[in-house]
Amino acid sequence: MSKQHEPASDSHSNTVAVQATNDDASASKLSCVKKGYMKDDYIHLFVRRPVRRSPIINRGYFSRWAALRKLLFQFLDCEGGTDNKGNTKKQILSIGAGFDTTFFQLQDEGKVPYLYVELDFKEVTSKKAAFIESYSQLRDKVGASASISREKGEVLSDHYKLLPIDLRDLQKLDDVIALADMDPSLPTFIIAECVLIYLDPDSTRGIVGWAAKSFSTAIFFLYEQIHPDDAFGQQMIRNLESRGCALLGLHATPTLLAKEKLFLDQGWQRAVAWDMLRVYSNFIEAQERRRIERLELFDEFEEWHMMQEHYCVAYAINDAMGLFGDFGFPNNQQHVPNSSPASP
Ligand code: SAH
Repeated sequence: MSKQHEPASDSHSNTVAVQATNDDASASKLSCVKKGYMKDDYIHLFVRRPVRRSPIINRGYFSRWAALRKLLFQFLDCEGGTDNKGNTKKQILSIGAGFDTTFFQLQDEGKVPYLYVELDFKEVTSKKAAFIESYSQLRDKVGASASISREKGEVLSDHYKLLPIDLRDLQKLDDVIALADMDPSLPTFIIAECVLIYLDPDSTRGIVGWAAKSFSTAIFFLYEQIHPDDAFGQQMIRNLESRGCALLGLHATPTLLAKEKLFLDQGWQRAVAWDMLRVYSNFIEAQERRRIERLELFDEFEEWHMMQEHYCVAYAINDAMGLFGDFGFPNNQQHVPNSSPASP
C-alpha cells in the first residue's frame, strides 16, 4: 500500500485532515437543514460549531443528498430478498460513514433495512458512539439492547452496527463484515460518499474489487470529485491540499469513463457515472429543484455549473438475483465489461 511508502508524519497528518472533512460535511449539511433544503432531525447533534454556508455550497450539498436518497430509495423499494415471514431483508454498508445520519432518518421514514452497517476510522467511530450514547434521540433509535463502547468505537445492536476500521486493510474488511453479521447473499447497498478519493488508487481498487466479490446482489454508490486537470479542478485540489488533504485517488479516475472502468475492471457487472450537473438536471425531481431554488438568492450560475461538473455519482451493479433491471438513472446507458474477465 502506498501509505507505507509515505513518511509516517505525512500519512498521519493526511489521515487527520481527511477525518476533518467529516466535520466539514456535517456542518454543511446542518447549514442546508437550517435553510430548508433538506430535513435531517439528527445532524445538529453532531455539529459543535454551526456555520452558515454560501448558497452554492448549500445547493451542492442538497444535490448530493437528493441523489443518494433517490438511488437508495430505489434500492429499498425494489422487490426481493424476502424471508419466510414475508419481510424484505436488505443491507446497507456505509464505508467512511463519518457522522452521516441516514440510518436515523430511515427509522423515522419507516424504511430502515434489516441491517445497517457503518465503518470509519476509530477516531471517528468513537466520537459517533459517544454521541449515540449521550443523546436519547439517537440511543432510542439503535435500541435499548444495543451495546455501545466509546473506547472500542463500536455500537452493536440487532439492526445497526458501527465499527472501526482502516479501510485500506482489506483483510480486516472481511473480519468486520463477519463481526457485523452481514449476509453476503442479501441485497446490499454500499455507500462511499467522498471517501475513496482520499485513498491511494491501489486501496480503492482493492475495496471495489473486494465488494464485487463479496456481494453478489449489490449496488455500489460513489460520490466524489472528477476532472483534476482544468483550472477549476486544479483550484479544487489546491483548496483541499491547503487543508492538508490530498485527493490521492483523483488522477487514477479523472473522468466519468474512468470511474465506470474502475468498477468494471474490478468485477462489477454494470457501471454508470454521471456528473452532478446532469444528475441535478435529469435525475433530481423537477419539483424539488423548483422548491430549493426559491430558498436563497442565487446568482453564481457560472461557478455552479463548473462546480457540478467536478463532482459525480457513479454506481455499479451486481445482480445475481435479477432485482435491479429498473434501477438507476433514467434512460441510462450502462457500460458492461468488454470481453475480458475482471482483472485481479
Ligand atoms: N460519508 C460521509 C463522510 C465523508 S468524510 C459523508 O458523506 O458525509 C470522509 C470520511 O471517510 C471521514 O469520516 C474519514 O474518517 C473516512 N475515511 C477516510 N479514509 C478512511 C480509511 N482509510 N478508513 C476508514 N475511514 C476512512
